[in-house]
Amino acid sequence: MNGRVAAMTGLEEMTIKEYELPKAEKGQVILEIIKANICGSDIHMWEGKHVLKNHVLGHEMVGKIVEIGEGITTDYAGQSIAVGDRVVPVYYLTCQKCQACLSGHFNLCEHGSDFMGQVSEKHPHFTGGFGTHYFIHTNQYFYKVPDNIPDNVAAGSNCGIAQIMYAMDNSNLKVNDYFVIQGAGGLGLFASAIAKTMGANVIVIDGVESRLTEAKKFGADFVINMREYDTVDKRIARINEISNGHGADVVLEVTGVPKAFDEGLRIVRMGGTYLELGNVLVDESLNTTIVPGLITRKCITIKGILRYQPWYLHKTLLFLEKYHDKYPFSSLTDRTYSLDEVQLALEKAASKEVQRAIIEPNK
Ligand SMILES: [Zn+2]
Ligand SMILES: [Zn+2]
Repeated sequence: MNGRVAAMTGLEEMTIKEYELPKAEKGQVILEIIKANICGSDIHMWEGKHVLKNHVLGHEMVGKIVEIGEGITTDYAGQSIAVGDRVVPVYYLTCQKCQACLSGHFNLCEHGSDFMGQVSEKHPHFTGGFGTHYFIHTNQYFYKVPDNIPDNVAAGSNCGIAQIMYAMDNSNLKVNDYFVIQGAGGLGLFASAIAKTMGANVIVIDGVESRLTEAKKFGADFVINMREYDTVDKRIARINEISNGHGADVVLEVTGVPKAFDEGLRIVRMGGTYLELGNVLVDESLNTTIVPGLITRKCITIKGILRYQPWYLHKTLLFLEKYHDKYPFSSLTDRTYSLDEVQLALEKAASKEVQRAIIEPNK
């Protein structure tokens, strides 16, 4: 039996390729993809801004098990699995032998992208979410999806939501703390919902009113519109007013704008924590000016967060099982495309005509 994948064959160029489906050998699983989201990173790759090129795109997906290799009876949380079950894979591998893996930082595995980045011609071909099928590697975590989580929510769980879950556990955030989120895109909304369930007072800053309205639906207690509060000083004054002079215990940067980093250092209170997630591209032109003395004088803890420890995907699914309908996670995907329309879907997503496009490869 054959399946199809959408591979990058040039800059902003996708080609649908057909290959024979691989067999699931020992420790491997084959999925039929149900839905796959287009993530910001997919667009970066498609535009050639990412190190990965000429591979099968797509890393946020949910699939249905069609074949289980010898020796596998459970997922990576010990839950029994069978053909037909919905699962989500952690999109990167953990080699368990590199320096990062040896120090327990599986999210930083030096070989994390080897598999997803390989050319589509190479076995097992089905290495990305934009395909009819997906091959779960021997060194790859995957988890069963609770029955009540809708497909489109499950599809997005293994990237942004899991990363935010991991960030929040590294944030030092306590009950009743003031938590400021810079940016009300997908990551900011996830952070708002998760921080709210952790008992924090959530403040979201953005310059687009519709995004701030959305943030309130995701649990934000207060929003600050940058058009109304149009200087850093005015925004800090507003945060002080909201928090009765307490200030921001934890600040999260998810705008992807270098200048926001400088503002975050000014916003966070004495002894507070600053989480950097949004600025992901390492490019000399993406720089900003900061005052290092602020870090010293305020004793700020700064944490960069890349990916997540694999088991955070399991924690994310447990979170979504409880809260996926308390906050409107389902509403975040707005257009569905077939596998043949993947080029169009990427164009619409890149031009922001479509907020979050979803591919249904077997439709
Ligand atoms: Zn992603
Ligand atoms: Zn490793």
